[in-house]
Amino acid sequence: MPRLLCDAMLGQLGHWLRAAGHDTLIAARRTGDPALVTRALADGRFLLTRDRRLCEIRGASRLALLLRHDRLPAQAAQITAPLGIDWLAAPFSRCLLCNVVLRPAPPLALNRLPETVRATTETINHCPQCDRLYWVGGHVHRMRRRLESWRAGDFV
Ligand SMILES: [Zn+2]
Repeated sequence: MPRLLCDAMLGQLGHWLRAAGHDTLIAARRTGDPALVTRALADGRFLLTRDRRLCEIRGASRLALLLRHDRLPAQAAQITAPLGIDWLAAPFSRCLLCNVVLRPAPPLALNRLPETVRATTETINHCPQCDRLYWVGGHVHRMRRRLESWRAGDFV
């Protein structure tokens, strides 16, 4: 699976890549262009950017993909074939905030959830970095439907 680095303007796309299970860093707003290129080179990541100048930095041409669109579905459509993105690679296996791979929630953490969620949810995952809990609810179902559409080539 490709590893990715999104510039700060592409945070939303980065979250969806994480939702699909792809290892995706999202640059902080103040990160300079040369630092982004250096990081992508060092990590072996594709660099996704809306910044044409960034693509002209030495070394960037091999790893940077200039996104032409502002809207998320069009961005997703543009990167799918060139980067071989599988939008159902490993859905909801990473923290959307930290990019860390989720683990099954430790029993103590489950106490933080409402009884109704605990009683009705089979799989509850946990981010070891930010301590967030993830489970399959209505929001995840909606996101999953969108990932399925994208996988089918329907960029909604
Ligand atoms: Zn997290």
